[in-house]
Amino acid sequence: MPTNIAITGAAGRMGKMLIEAVSMSSEAELTAAIERPESSLIGADAGELAGIGKNGIAIVGDIAEVKGQFDVLIDFTAPQATLANTQFCAANNKGIVIGTTGFSQEELAELEALQAQLAMIKAANYSTGVNLSLKLLEVASSVLGDDVDIEIVEAHHRHKVDAPSGTALAMGEVIADALGRDLQKVAIYGREGQTGARERDTIGFATVRGGDVVGDHTVMFMADGERVEITHKASSRMSFARGAVRAAAWLVGKDKGLYSMRDVLGI
Ligand code: NAD
Repeated sequence: MPTNIAITGAAGRMGKMLIEAVSMSSEAELTAAIERPESSLIGADAGELAGIGKNGIAIVGDIAEVKGQFDVLIDFTAPQATLANTQFCAANNKGIVIGTTGFSQEELAELEALQAQLAMIKAANYSTGVNLSLKLLEVASSVLGDDVDIEIVEAHHRHKVDAPSGTALAMGEVIADALGRDLQKVAIYGREGQTGARERDTIGFATVRGGDVVGDHTVMFMADGERVEITHKASSRMSFARGAVRAAAWLVGKDKGLYSMRDVLGI
């Protein structure tokens, strides 16, 4: 039986991709689509909006209207909307796949407080390639250890509203964990002016914004005499959408709690 899926943020860049990805999956079926209540697209056909032809799912402006129609919500919207939807899913025994990034520390704490009340997957990046890269970064960090300077460079399209990207931060977390460092203490978010010499245990982030770049990430491990770089480049949002749909189907029947995309992929 395919999993009944609701997609919120249905008219967004990722929302439309997710509608298409669900239509291509044998494990999932789109049964509800949600947008902001003030959106001019309320009532529109979700399939037509996503460019895949009519699918008979009308976009609604309130998740409560489709309460009985889905098992798992896929949410790629904005932090406050995602928090409200997580509360709704916890109260109504639904699973949630969270793709939204850019949460503040307070918002993350609110999400954390909810995670025991529902089955939740949260990932800054749902592509298989990025999750493989996280594994490679763990290995590289343990092998190269404290002998290298580590810097993370990311590039995204001009519309992205948060920086550095959630994926870059996830990469920083994996590296810091592998090296026994606290990312909050060692992260350097950009440099300017008389910065002084680089301290070995810092992890630097550099952000590039422009054009239609879907998402590029490079981690540099720099030693005297050699440099290792691990790079991932996304050329289509479909890689994120397919991963999120796979995660939603995987979540069905799981115990309440927080899971990662690496749990879904078994790496
Ligand atoms: P977008 O602005 O194109 O789409 C967001 C959509 O959410 C919009 O259509 C907006 O109207 C809708 N929305 C906002 N509040 C809402 C609410 N209360 N109820 C219903 N809909 C609401 O943005 P995007 O590029 O699609 O990205 C969305 C989020 O997903 C961002 O945080 C982005 O960083 C993240 N993202 C994550 C991944 C990943 O793999 N985890 C990949 C790409 C993007």
